[in-house]
Amino acid sequence: RANAEKFEFQAEVSRLMDILINSLYSNKDIFLRELISNASDALDKIRFLALTDKEVLGEGDSTKLEIQIKLDKDKKIISIRDRGVGMTKEDLRKNLGTIAKSGTSAFVEKMQTSGDLNLIGQFGVGFYSVYLVADYVEVISKHNDDKQYVWESKADGAFAISEDTWNEPLGRGTEIRLHLRDEAGEYADEYKLKELVKKYSEFINFPINLWASKEVEKEVPADEDESIDEEETSESTSEEEEEEEDVEKAEDEKKPKTKKVKETTYEWELLNDVKAIWLRNPKEVTDEEYTKFYHSLAKDFSDDKPMAWSHFNAEGDVEFKAVLFIPPKAPHDLYESYYNTKQSNLKLYVRRVFISDEFNELLPKYLNFLMGLVDSDTLPLNVSREMLQQHHSLKTIKKKLIRKALDMIRKLAEEDPDESNDKKDVEESNDENEKKGQYAKFWNEFGKSIKLGIIEDATNRNRLAKLLRFETTKSDGKTSLDQYISRMKSSQKDIFYITGASKEQLEKSPFLERLNKKDYEVIFFTDPVDEYLMQYLMDYEDKKFQNVSKEGLKLKDSKTKELKESFKGLTKWWKNTLASDNVEDVKISSRLADTPCVVVTSKYGWSAYMEKIMHSQTL
Ligand code: ADP
Ligand code: MG
Repeated sequence: RANAEKFEFQAEVSRLMDILINSLYSNKDIFLRELISNASDALDKIRFLALTDKEVLGEGDSTKLEIQIKLDKDKKIISIRDRGVGMTKEDLRKNLGTIAKSGTSAFVEKMQTSGDLNLIGQFGVGFYSVYLVADYVEVISKHNDDKQYVWESKADGAFAISEDTWNEPLGRGTEIRLHLRDEAGEYADEYKLKELVKKYSEFINFPINLWASKEVEKEVPADEDESIDEEETSESTSEEEEEEEDVEKAEDEKKPKTKKVKETTYEWELLNDVKAIWLRNPKEVTDEEYTKFYHSLAKDFSDDKPMAWSHFNAEGDVEFKAVLFIPPKAPHDLYESYYNTKQSNLKLYVRRVFISDEFNELLPKYLNFLMGLVDSDTLPLNVSREMLQQHHSLKTIKKKLIRKALDMIRKLAEEDPDESNDKKDVEESNDENEKKGQYAKFWNEFGKSIKLGIIEDATNRNRLAKLLRFETTKSDGKTSLDQYISRMKSSQKDIFYITGASKEQLEKSPFLERLNKKDYEVIFFTDPVDEYLMQYLMDYEDKKFQNVSKEGLKLKDSKTKELKESFKGLTKWWKNTLASDNVEDVKISSRLADTPCVVVTSKYGWSAYMEKIMHSQTL
């Protein structure tokens, strides 16, 4: 093309495309849902803009917020068109090739180890999946602020953008044309496309229409000559036509000389039901539907089911409907970017209109592993995002969402037969089998979030503490605070714990000698975050936490007082000998059995392990 401007793909993107093209991965279906998902995102964007400025929608067909799919069977071209926001020339250049998203290299790495493409959408590079099935792709796009452009690439390391002077004007939106590769011929089939849309794009909130062929039987005159005659007269005026028909009828009655022939016509066929799942009565939604809905929300099309969900309707001053999911696995970057970026996974709708999925005011940071959506009738529709972010109802919504989320997690534990104190010997039902070990799985994936919650959320600290799991000197596997308390000796007032790098290392600690001898149970906190955690978690169910390596450990011992008296001289001498800036005090200890002495941290000081953590962080 004369006016084409050429660009090179950014290196990571180029690598990704190479991998996709050469992929032997058999499930190439995903390209269609990625394109439909992008079309849906673009429609969401224009609908959102239209809330405050009706003009952006234009007029005529442009106002129809829909997705259209067409197939040219002979040329093997699939085209997917939306009336979304479209892309300017600059958008095309940046979004489709030159600026790599943060997930690009992470996804490339993942591809090389697992070879699983299913999560491509989660990494923000779903568009490139088109090259699984196409060897040449055109993206025609019209944005309100720019002319119509064509982006095209044969995935040979380069792409071109040209001002579009030859295609039909789109009005607004994007059309993606996939020129199918020979090996992907199976997609040049309407039934296949229909099946894919039904399977993967059920929960898209815009109509998806397919330009579908339809065989119709038509009666035509049996005589070839007559049909030609008919065509020849088709230019006649309507009055003459009527006359002709009359004549025809009369002739037909005499000798019925018609035959039936099949003819192919085309019309738009709606493929999805746009009724939002969250508006339905939870009792009427099946588990399978929730699972599928989760997959479409999370862009996760593996076979994994979400661990749990909660679908509810909040009434009162602030009305909203919400569905929350606990994903089967933690996303790849959940904790990596925890303190820098915070990306909530909740979609906010106001009266069925998608507003944003970057609304961080809905959930606290520590719950950002949850997926789901909120649709509120109380929030105003035609205000800016900034105004909405400050709306007072958000606080109420947030509070209720946290409550529901924590309830959902608590239930996950309660329903898990492995978690109960009194393990019943009842024959296990299938249902129980499925729930066995589910909380351990949850804890494995998201336990850290619960700990971060204890640090950040003072209001719900106790509820969150109930969800904690850890190992102890007596437990075989993980246990909870409630279970610990139920095993406490009657003479024991505090909850004992010790922090360190691993259970194995801690088991040898001299701090545990006396406690073990006296049969007290001690919690092992072995995660670096536990040190911080215990600075916030002071008590639980009226019991104080006592770090057994810190000052303050009181074990009932009648002899302590006596010993204190008789060794007064020694402790005094010792304290003076070690200059006062080396130790704070020297005391008779009741915590040892065999070891002659230990260094103990003062009550408010850093534990030895904390010192170690801090030291390694400053290096
Ligand atoms: P993601 O959808 O996760 O952002 P993709 O690789 O699927 O990643 O798409 C990249 C970007 O290209 C999108 O973020 C969007 O800006 C742009 N884009 C893709 N398809 C469309 C479309 N149909 N209309 C408008 N913009 C689009
Ligand atoms: Mg996408």
